[in-house]
Amino acid sequence: MRISEAQELIREIYGEKDRGRGIRGTALHLGEEMGELFRALRSNDEGNLREELADVLAWLLSISDLLSINLEEAFLERYGEGCPKCGSIPCKCPEV
Ligand SMILES: [Zn+2]
Repeated sequence: MRISEAQELIREIYGEKDRGRGIRGTALHLGEEMGELFRALRSNDEGNLREELADVLAWLLSISDLLSINLEEAFLERYGEGCPKCGSIPCKCPEV
């Protein structure tokens, strides 16, 4: 499945609810899911990690869709040629 297809699927499942909630409310849910992902990282439970990673992506896709931004295109514009800072694959930026 391509990122665009995932975005379409999330729009079909949640688009109406997302539009009703708006960007700010939807962004709050993304923040909550990030917190759950951090907790899952501590638990090291693979099933839980899979769920939380999928949830974070789903909320990110919801926000992208509310902004009428195709996340696949935006991602390719940003990372399609390698690291946005050094332009290399793999990245050759010094570690910070
Ligand atoms: Zn780099």
